[in-house]
Amino acid sequence: MKNLVVFFYIDALNPSFLNRDIMPFLSSLATKNHCHVLENVFGYSFTIQSCMLSGKYPDENNHWMPYFYCPEESPFLFKTLNMKTFSPLDRLQTLRYLTVRGCRRLFLKKGVQANNIPLCEIDKIALYPYYYMCELPFFLELGKLLEEKSQTTLTYIGPPKQRTNLHSTLFEHLRKSKHENEAIIVYHDTLDGLGHTFGPCSPRYLNYAKSLDSALSATYRKLTNSLGKHFTLLVFSDHGQSELKFQINILSELNKKGLKLGVDYICFVDATLALFWPEDDVAKEKILGALDKIGQGIVIDVDKRKKYHIEFKDDRYGEIIYVLKPGGTFVPNFFSPFGAMKGLHGYLPEGEVQKSFLLSNEKLSFHISHVKDVRNLLLNLFS
Ligand SMILES: [Zn+2]
Repeated sequence: MKNLVVFFYIDALNPSFLNRDIMPFLSSLATKNHCHVLENVFGYSFTIQSCMLSGKYPDENNHWMPYFYCPEESPFLFKTLNMKTFSPLDRLQTLRYLTVRGCRRLFLKKGVQANNIPLCEIDKIALYPYYYMCELPFFLELGKLLEEKSQTTLTYIGPPKQRTNLHSTLFEHLRKSKHENEAIIVYHDTLDGLGHTFGPCSPRYLNYAKSLDSALSATYRKLTNSLGKHFTLLVFSDHGQSELKFQINILSELNKKGLKLGVDYICFVDATLALFWPEDDVAKEKILGALDKIGQGIVIDVDKRKKYHIEFKDDRYGEIIYVLKPGGTFVPNFFSPFGAMKGLHGYLPEGEVQKSFLLSNEKLSFHISHVKDVRNLLLNLFS
């Protein structure tokens, strides 16, 4: 009989939802002591996915953010966009956003959608040519290892190819699949999108979590009925979301201090994290002073880089790394000029909203306590 492990990856499921009223099925798994609270890494889903699939910390796998400072590796498209003819667009933010988005879709089919990078510095930024979990080199590596070690096939169902009807695709796939041993990752990212748009306390977010619980319960019953003990269910969430509490226009704050973007410094402004590359030590001190005065976040110093395993060999991920306190966001940021998202994540990993957890339908013989242990768990389940 087929040995099957299905790993449901739910992006942004708040652990507080694991109660009988909202998610009766998942909360029943949690009360059976099959819930593992996992130590998380500092970053967004790209960081967490790279870590769990490689089994390595960010400074070991060299993947922290999907963008980094590297003028030599910046795409040709970005170099073209920084030509003097386009620079007036930096003052017309919406037009710039649409120009970069249009060009990126036309020429760069893959990679993260950072469409709001100012053109005066766009040619200093490079992007990995992949973004989704199934595109990461670590996904392919893990698939190869599973095949070699236990003749197990690793399958992925989810975005960017598909975002809806994931469970019916799963059953359709299983009807055709001839693999004796198979691990399937089913990646749900709709909840994350709803949280960003409507907020993690909104009815839309809550109702979707409820419907997800019923879908997971029905899928579990169906697979247990056909495979019994040969089926293992894993449900994983990479983080939750915090309700929007405050917003900061970091570029304008630095401008007030006389710091000019593209002249005194280069930066990448994400939703909750900002990375800076100052021109010289004077600019660096000025930026640090300004961030200290804002008082709404934390500069990741040498000790914290060590603690969070982001001690990279070079400064590709920022000479200065600044993260906001939970509930904060940068507006505008390099993903969008259009107002603040209502739900946010990407704060220090100790925070309540950054909690990650793994549920299973049976007691796991492999001890798992960190998101990076997921890789070895999958290998162990088929050994
Ligand atoms: Zn998100």
